[in-house]
Amino acid sequence: MKIGIIGAGFTGLSSAYYLSKKGHTVIVFEKDDKPGGLAVGYKEEKWDWTLEPHYHHWFTNDKSVLSLAKEINHKVIIKRPKTSSFVNNKIYQLDSPISLLRFTKLSLFNRIRMGISLAVLRYNPIWKPLEKFHAEPYLKKMMGRITYEKLWKPLMVNKLGKYAKNVSLSWFWARVYKRTSSLAYPQGGFLEFSKHLEKEVKKRGGKFYYNTEVTKFSSNNKPQISYKIQNTKYQIQQFDRVIVTVPSPLFIKIAKELPASYITRLNRLKVIGAVNLVLRLSKPFFTDGTYWLSMCDLKSPILAIVEHTNFMDKKNYNNEYLIYVGNYMEASDPRFKMSKEELLKLYDPWLKKINPNYQFSIINSQLFHAPFAQPIIPVNYSKIMPGFNTPLKNVYLANIQQVYPWDRGTNYAVELGKNIAKLIDESN
Ligand SMILES: Cc1cc2nc3c(=O)[nH]c(=O)nc-3n(C[C@H](O)[C@H](O)[C@H](O)COP(=O)(O)OP(=O)(O)OC[C@H]3O[C@@H](n4cnc5c(N)ncnc54)[C@H](O)[C@@H]3O)c2cc1C
Repeated sequence: MKIGIIGAGFTGLSSAYYLSKKGHTVIVFEKDDKPGGLAVGYKEEKWDWTLEPHYHHWFTNDKSVLSLAKEINHKVIIKRPKTSSFVNNKIYQLDSPISLLRFTKLSLFNRIRMGISLAVLRYNPIWKPLEKFHAEPYLKKMMGRITYEKLWKPLMVNKLGKYAKNVSLSWFWARVYKRTSSLAYPQGGFLEFSKHLEKEVKKRGGKFYYNTEVTKFSSNNKPQISYKIQNTKYQIQQFDRVIVTVPSPLFIKIAKELPASYITRLNRLKVIGAVNLVLRLSKPFFTDGTYWLSMCDLKSPILAIVEHTNFMDKKNYNNEYLIYVGNYMEASDPRFKMSKEELLKLYDPWLKKINPNYQFSIINSQLFHAPFAQPIIPVNYSKIMPGFNTPLKNVYLANIQQVYPWDRGTNYAVELGKNIAKLIDESN
């Protein structure tokens, strides 16, 4: 079959890979100039490796993507970087039961209570009954109000904003259940990995059109895609099947023939954006080797500070120290439109609390936005999550809003790609 795939993120790339392996002809349309989507990468002069605009790593139990890496023979680096939390203006390592026991900002009773509450989630493999509960009351009740206010509320509110109260316990469960202390990263960066996958698809006759935005498509028996390669005329191609991997709001924009009831269903699903300010420094930001710092303070305008070079070796980046100052917010939030100078001014007092002299070591900075970064998972999401089939014949949807109960990630994008490829192959 001839299959058109819209989007060369990890879902599009992996569906192209698995379909091409089955002997289908795939054509991937991507509006960016390279593959990777949200996990794309960029390279500064003198860097050997690329860096993701938004911090990325894999957990060591991310089976789908790790077995794909093995299959295409892409080297993966595994390390155990340090994860900490910023509480009452101080950094505390909080990434194991031992470090929790040493965390003196909570009473011993509350530390044990929190440990037990997390263990209950971590060792319970059954998530379905949890989806009808909200996460917030569970955290308050099981861990106690003090622990909730000190640690979890700031994290939930800083990440999810007004949706913090809406998310389901199954979403929270998945984050605890899946977390591993050791993390993995593809040699060369996520862009290198994406290019490797692209090469594998091309080896089997697949084609990639970059700088190519799909502007609309229509569907009778054979869907037709209208696209525009930068600075050229609109073109149309017909396919046996089409896979749409773009976020649902963009799907609605390009699929003019979708019925109103389906659009209403998709519009009910919420997704918030991410903003990451990458600082290139000539000196380390953290003095204690922390990789990931969660800001447990409701007043903090920052959700997390991630020193990538405390995970991957700085020699790959011309010996620079790289940090992400990260945040999630709705794309309509005024901070989403701030320049990097405005954002740095907002973040500066908080960055100085951790490293009072960081500003003297800034080489450069870059600001990145992703309007569709984090789906909001309300209670009973399994009942409202869209399926692969759409009302348009032979047009399939496989996107970030179909990852559940797991938190979205490239591992699950690969899983989606594999599953949609199987469905289409079997529909032949
Ligand atoms: C801040 C942040 C941190 C994250 N951290 C991690 C992490 O640590 N580990 C991890 O595994 N994952 C992480 N993720 C999630 C991960 O990046 C995504 O889950 C995954 O990349 C989604 O892939 P996708 O292919 O489904 O979607 P996308 O990556 O969004 O791909 C969709 C593609 O479609 C293209 N497109 C859109 N419209 C059109 C059009 N009209 N025509 C043609 N092309 C179009 C886009 O340019 C894009 O390339 C993170 C994401 C963010 C934002």
